[in-house]
Amino acid sequence: MIAFQNVSKYYEHQSILKNITFTIQKGEMAFLTGPSGAGKSTLLKLMYLAEWPDEGNIVIGDFQLQSLSPSQIPMLRRSIGVVFQDFKLINTLSVFDNVALSLRIKGVIEKDIKNLVSGALKRVHLRHLSDSYPLILSGGEQQRVAIARAIVTEPLVLLADEPTGNLDPNTAIDIIKLFEEINLQGTTIIIATHNKELFKNTKRRVLKLDSGSLIGEEVG
Ligand code: ADP
Ligand code: ADP
Repeated sequence: MIAFQNVSKYYEHQSILKNITFTIQKGEMAFLTGPSGAGKSTLLKLMYLAEWPDEGNIVIGDFQLQSLSPSQIPMLRRSIGVVFQDFKLINTLSVFDNVALSLRIKGVIEKDIKNLVSGALKRVHLRHLSDSYPLILSGGEQQRVAIARAIVTEPLVLLADEPTGNLDPNTAIDIIKLFEEINLQGTTIIIATHNKELFKNTKRRVLKLDSGSLIGEEVG
């Protein structure tokens, strides 16, 4: 599903990712860990095309980044769901409308939007908060809205960048359990975190990044 082949990334001649090679299988849920500054965010950005690799090739589903045509770039971006530490919800829109936004931009008809958004909110156990606004929700609930927004388009892969960084430890574990549920329904997931507690006992692959290099992997 995802393959990095000898991928390197530089910022102003400084090497941020060095010769990164790994694969993630379809349906896998894996963690990417390493200290702050190791390059985790940058690695995820290369997958959702917020940044481009300077060397090497990246394959995501049927997309080869090396030979991507300009028209395929928005297609690829639309087929990747991303969740961030700070949720990035629109506070003036209801939960429903936050989750519906990308579908409306795509021009999906309102009847289908209603079904898709209800389905996504059900998967994150938030259907009862559909009409609420983000700022009255807890941090964990806000992150669940962000996850619903990311999965409502049935992405090829769901990427999470330090998704529990703003949450207390118990809520953080709940969010990881939610990712496990979503993964069981078939979504491929990569979670970047410096927090080892999150993958302890998950029995999932953990890719270890340090100073821009993949230094090995373990099972959580
Ligand atoms: P992590 O997510 O593991 O904390 P990042 O990928 O955010 O690591 O950052 C890796 C390194 O790249 C850090 O040293 C960071 O300062 C640097 N970096 C990240 N983005 C940029 C950028 N746009 N320009 C220059 N340096 C950057
Ligand atoms: P994260 O918490 O995900 O590691 P950062 O705080 O490292 O994020 O980065 C936030 C934003 O600033 C990102 O868009 C990143 O590319 C950019 N950035 C990070 N470090 C640098 C840097 N040294 N120079 C320029 N931009 C940077």
